[in-house]
Amino acid sequence: MKKYVIALDAGTTSNRAIVFDKNLQIVGTSQKEFKQIYPKPGWVEHDPIEIWDSQKSVLKSALAQHNISPASIASVGITNQRETTIIWDRSTGIPIFNAIVWQDRRTSGYCEKLKNDGYAEKIRKKTGLVIDAYFSGTKIKWILDNVEGVRQRAEKGELLFGTVETWLVWNLTKGERHITDVSNASRTMLYNINSLEWDQELLDLLEIPSALLPQVVDSSGDHGLIDQKILAGNIPISGMAGDQQASLFGQLCFEKGMVKNTYGTGCFVMMNTGDKPELSSEKLLATIAWKIGDNIQYATEGSIFVGGALVQWLRDNLKLIKSAPEIETLAAEVEDNGGVVIVPAFAGLGAPHWDQFARGTMFGITRATQPTHIARATLEAIALQVKDAIDVMIDTSGLELKHLKVDGGASTNDLLIQIQADLLDVEVVRPVITETTALGAALLAGLAVGFWEDFDDIKGRWSVHKIFKPSADKRGNDELLRYWRKAIERTKNWIEK
Ligand code: ADP
Repeated sequence: MKKYVIALDAGTTSNRAIVFDKNLQIVGTSQKEFKQIYPKPGWVEHDPIEIWDSQKSVLKSALAQHNISPASIASVGITNQRETTIIWDRSTGIPIFNAIVWQDRRTSGYCEKLKNDGYAEKIRKKTGLVIDAYFSGTKIKWILDNVEGVRQRAEKGELLFGTVETWLVWNLTKGERHITDVSNASRTMLYNINSLEWDQELLDLLEIPSALLPQVVDSSGDHGLIDQKILAGNIPISGMAGDQQASLFGQLCFEKGMVKNTYGTGCFVMMNTGDKPELSSEKLLATIAWKIGDNIQYATEGSIFVGGALVQWLRDNLKLIKSAPEIETLAAEVEDNGGVVIVPAFAGLGAPHWDQFARGTMFGITRATQPTHIARATLEAIALQVKDAIDVMIDTSGLELKHLKVDGGASTNDLLIQIQADLLDVEVVRPVITETTALGAALLAGLAVGFWEDFDDIKGRWSVHKIFKPSADKRGNDELLRYWRKAIERTKNWIEK
């Protein structure tokens, strides 16, 4: 009797295995952190072997700890830190270099060159992305250019490239499958999101041999069987999606115009834009959300660098609070921000303002300013940044925002979410399961093997924890927005290049 689907959530700092039952309840989890390697300022690497070992061990321990037999598992789905780049030897399975992590900036100089050479518009139209070191393409090129002998071996077809889900599937199937799903392929800056194929012109531009590349497959489908020596039972792998896309799926944003935001260290807003890429805005990324048979869905994405991290800064640097949740109690002591506006541009501004020279500021301080006002302004700053990204999504797509779905660590903060509902003037929905990334991977996997019948079956089992309605009295909002816009402008272009 197949009772469970397992999600493998291969994150940036830890790997997890989460066991879901048919009613989308979590019945078991296991988690293991792995090493972050910082060889130079701006460089971030992981050991691919450690990623694989820890993922394998959490898969086994999630089952062992909860006495779940492999025979009861219908399927496994994978979601992953996106863009992180691994190249390994096809015959031995040994990586030829550490994984270069999405945060790694070593190829920024080359990206600047591509921009100066006039490739921005072409790359945006083909891939939906802005030219940036974030994406896998220039990381692959860096390995080929800098690790001795690798380029020749890649050309001979001896090496394989993959992002983390590709690496995990290859290992789980003992080298049977070298595949990536469309959502992950669309983050490489090498995949044409219109024609749905690796783009030869971009491969030539970055000098990447196509022999390295995985086959691109659906996000839900047959992705191979887990090797019996790893886990008995002939368990299929049948779901794969990058973390933010998986979370859009786990929030059941199946229809055009549906939006989710994840409030974690940063904030990731994503809107389903239907079966065509929305390429009209240069301020947002266009990406593939998922593909299931003939059903392909695209999304626009806005990344905000500092969300919950501002709360951490209040806790660790200013020591205004002892724990993150205390921010809510402190902020609730006042009716408003007392004139304080914070722009948390600690690392420049992300979507939709995009200014790497902006830096954080706090405006409107007077003798009357209290920690309570700063706490309130902190929650407002998080919600205002999310509003700015969503406003651009709505403007450029012409779609109507019906509601916002939320998840992530800071989404447990009721006051923050109420402020968000007031600012957007729509209902904000927080689900019972806020592990939406893992849930999305599980749903993609379960749908492929008939564990869940269809979208309606899933919708019937998904439940809401709380709905936040915009307050009737939102008079403060106009003023808040006016000051916020002024603050954003004064923050821009602060440090000298
Ligand atoms: P990540 O996945 O990026 O590590 P999480 O989803 O675990 O992040 O969320 C952690 C972040 O949420 C931290 O930055 C923390 O400061 C913030 N956070 C956690 N609880 C609250 C809360 N109650 N109110 C505001 N922020 C919170």
